[in-house]
Amino acid sequence: MSAWVEKLSARGYKITPQRRIILEILGNSDRHLTAEEIGQEVRKTEPSISLATVYRNLNLLADLQIVSRLNIHDGPVRYELHGGHNHHLVCMDCGVAVKLGVCPMQGEVNRVAEENGFEVSNHHFEVLGYCRECSLKRKLQQANSTAEGGTAGDKD
Ligand SMILES: [Zn+2]
Ligand SMILES: [Zn+2]
Repeated sequence: MSAWVEKLSARGYKITPQRRIILEILGNSDRHLTAEEIGQEVRKTEPSISLATVYRNLNLLADLQIVSRLNIHDGPVRYELHGGHNHHLVCMDCGVAVKLGVCPMQGEVNRVAEENGFEVSNHHFEVLGYCRECSLKRKLQQANSTAEGGTAGDKD
């Protein structure tokens, strides 16, 4: 939790209470959170902080690479603390993030980069999908909607 303090002050930014709260929320979460979810959590401790303020600070923290933005197709942007080196399985519905514990840069990807004389400066790797619960929910929803007279042609 001290690395981001240094990053902020090195760039001349203050450690404002709202920035501290946002970073604490992200640091304590095992999910990648949306701005709305962060805003809800923030207001539990500081009801006066608006969602606009949360957005503004998230953008700043993302620009400073203190938090990472995860863009999910058809879903809200999710945020995580850019602390250390982690790759996750990320649920596109609820944001639950399961640590992978492996890095693709250790294998084949690194070899291809080397072969091409490609100087890697950074990498980002997340596997998007649906966690067990959300996957089950989706299957139930699909089953319900086809039972209601859907004409979908898939058969087993
Ligand atoms: Zn989920
Ligand atoms: Zn990696």
